[in-house]
Amino acid sequence: MEFAKPLPNYLIKRYHGWKATTYTENQGWYRRLATEGQRPRAMVISCCDSRVHVTSIFGADQGEFFIHRNIANLVPPFEPDGEHHGTSATVEYAVKVLGVVHLIVLGHSQCGGIQGCIDMCKGNAPELEEKESFVGRWMDILRPKFTEVADIEDATDQARQLEKHAVITSLENLMTFPFVASAVADGSLDLHGLWTDIGEGGLECYDHDVGKFLQV
Ligand SMILES: [Zn+2]
Repeated sequence: MEFAKPLPNYLIKRYHGWKATTYTENQGWYRRLATEGQRPRAMVISCCDSRVHVTSIFGADQGEFFIHRNIANLVPPFEPDGEHHGTSATVEYAVKVLGVVHLIVLGHSQCGGIQGCIDMCKGNAPELEEKESFVGRWMDILRPKFTEVADIEDATDQARQLEKHAVITSLENLMTFPFVASAVADGSLDLHGLWTDIGEGGLECYDHDVGKFLQV
């Protein structure tokens, strides 16, 4: 495996810095996590975007959140077809094995995946239309919702609305998983839809009664 290179120096330095400070100061806590295993109360599905930092905005420590990140925080529908389903596997493990009581889908502003979906739906991204585009085929999950925002003229507003539709789509698709639907029905699992404004540090939560995202 000659293509696997040593870690770059800046990361080696950062690691040793963490080991000498954060780890050393909290060694007991880390060892307890190792021996007792994880018992996170919440699962979070967020975007891979490096600016989205769910542990930071909730001040969460190791062991608190079971986190899955993918392009545009999308959950596909329940498709038990024997293929490779990374996102569905994380949901299954969180709900059936860990028994999380909260499942949070976190969308965000300026999402590149959502913008790609908009470009694709407007016919401006032929590269995403190709069968070989994993991003394009992944964003197909959200494609039907584009019609809901197609008439919005302001580009920023259009993207924000589709970002929020992505969260709602994920919640809807989560409910197609039988073990999620039954956990929600018996009250052992709550689903939550959030959207964060990166520049403003804002956080909005989907309110089912008013059918809108409201500031937290
Ligand atoms: Zn994103």
